[in-house]
Amino acid sequence: MPMQPPRIGGARKRVAWAPTRKMPVKRVRGRAGQKARAQVIAEEPLCRKCLERGVTRKTDKVDHIVPLAWGGSDARSNKQGLCDPCHDEKSKAERAIDAEQRRRFDATR
Ligand SMILES: [Zn+2]
Repeated sequence: MPMQPPRIGGARKRVAWAPTRKMPVKRVRGRAGQKARAQVIAEEPLCRKCLERGVTRKTDKVDHIVPLAWGGSDARSNKQGLCDPCHDEKSKAERAIDAEQRRRFDATR
């Protein structure tokens, strides 16, 4: 039997984190997904967030405004074109929110 490394801070039983939001919607994949992605890029060839700042940069990624994992829709109205830096920044902020929620959940255990 493999040895467990010693736990720091006592033997608190860890409970799996469960999302409190509704479960993600089914995402359109495959050929239909590619077509939907191309459609968004055709409609929004420039990054939406950069345009708000008066910067012109091409769309690299199709982003879900409300992430699917947070119960966002896979409909066109929930999609926007973003450049890589803006998409990375938004994803990083979303991961920070997820991490904070997990931290708060763990603190209640
Ligand atoms: Zn951008």
